[in-house]
Amino acid sequence: MENPTVTLDKIVALCKRKGFIYQSASIYGGLNGVYDFAHLGTLLKKNIRAEWLKSINATFDDILEFEGGLLGPHAEWEASGHVENFSDPMVDCLNCKHRFRADEIDLSKPCANCGQTKWTDIRQFNLMFKTQIGAISNDDPGFQPSLTAMADTVAQGGVYPEKNRGAGHGKANIAYLRPETAQPIFVNFKNFISTYRVKIPFGVAQMGKSFRNEITPKQFLFRTREFEQMEIEWFCKEETALKDFDTWCESRKKFYSNIGLNMQKIRFREQTPDERAHYSIRCTDVEYEFPFGFKEIEGIAYRGNYDLTQHSKFSGKDLTVFDEETRKTYTPHVVECSVGTDRLLLTLLFDAYHEDIQAVPAEAFGEGREQETRIVLKLHPKIAPIKAAFFPLVKKLSVPMLAIYKNIKKLGYEVDFDESASIGKRYRRQDEIGTPLCFTYDFDSENDNCVTVRDRDTTIQQRISIDIIEDYIKKTLTKG
Ligand code: ATP
Repeated sequence: MENPTVTLDKIVALCKRKGFIYQSASIYGGLNGVYDFAHLGTLLKKNIRAEWLKSINATFDDILEFEGGLLGPHAEWEASGHVENFSDPMVDCLNCKHRFRADEIDLSKPCANCGQTKWTDIRQFNLMFKTQIGAISNDDPGFQPSLTAMADTVAQGGVYPEKNRGAGHGKANIAYLRPETAQPIFVNFKNFISTYRVKIPFGVAQMGKSFRNEITPKQFLFRTREFEQMEIEWFCKEETALKDFDTWCESRKKFYSNIGLNMQKIRFREQTPDERAHYSIRCTDVEYEFPFGFKEIEGIAYRGNYDLTQHSKFSGKDLTVFDEETRKTYTPHVVECSVGTDRLLLTLLFDAYHEDIQAVPAEAFGEGREQETRIVLKLHPKIAPIKAAFFPLVKKLSVPMLAIYKNIKKLGYEVDFDESASIGKRYRRQDEIGTPLCFTYDFDSENDNCVTVRDRDTTIQQRISIDIIEDYIKKTLTKG
């Protein structure tokens, strides 16, 4: 289904207008690449997380949940390769000082900002946010800058120095805000084995914040400096890894279809060998067709046993497991699925945004307006932040409708009550935030114990008994 009306500007405006997402610290001019999630945005995110977790648990048994620390010591990120390699190429315009990602622009062409062609050399910029633990600052005489990367020493069979293990280097406790959620899972691998007595294969699922000091945050939630990821690390034997990789790909496809995305806009693209990280054996990007092109929303990667091997080398701890069948120890392999929650939320908004041109009854919007553009978010009901809205036709009927609304709310549904403005305007408010059902209590309700229910997508209205409102909502939420 084509939806040519949606643009990034419209999505950004809708999010602000309706209270999904605000620019962070906007009264101070805003913090570039950081956003705050307001009530509706928070509910939407919560629903996405819930569906993700359900789908992960439906794929395999033995999934553990996890919430790792946001800060990690230097050694952890050196072992993972991030200190050395987690960088993007950066270039500045010498004339206007504008900064760009060098791989995103053509340096033979003039600067898009000022029209001059005067570039600095390309430098690698590490995307991790670095900080210090404890009351030591760069100005203190006792401070020693980070030692040079030890990755080479370890790669050549050397031992990572004892003093570099643990929280940081030397006297300075250097730490990083995690740029991905995966590493704290790898670091805790042996803890999972000993405390839950899980056996290979098992998975660890985590939803949480990651931080990247992106050179050019852009396209609203698409590329931000602080964002959330939903990741599963699946620990398995080498023999089953490729099969498990395929199972995860299938499962992720089902997930996207289940949350109502238009599957014609989704593609699974296998990365070419030169796109993949050197340790990665297979890698598939899940991409969505945004108005600005096909872009990654999730990466599915078979990472070999690289991560556990690295952490074992750098920490000096044994991260192998014992195979009862072969009576040998081995380092498990890992399949990872990693999706950005905020990027997916943006994807869902793009996918759901519709503008319908409608004939409007005069009594709903006043004289002289026969046609109205209806903005509607056709989110799947289970993803929609508000499941149903309750309206008394006129304020005089508020008391009985308020009672019905409160009963449904008590059952745990996110619902809304609105008694202001015309019914037409109230419908439109709910359409814009994607509420699938609106119930109206009118003068007949007093006698027939029924309300009118109106469907967001079809706008068809139906009369149903007040007694079946909950069932009706439930059925709508579980529709295929
Ligand atoms: P990209 O190429 O877009 O920078 P990536 O390949 O670096 O992404 P991964 O490290 O594989 O991304 O992270 C997994 C997922 O996390 C991405 O598919 C995306 O949904 C999300 N993600 C990564 N970086 C950002 C960001 N800066 N802002 C929002 N989401 C992000």
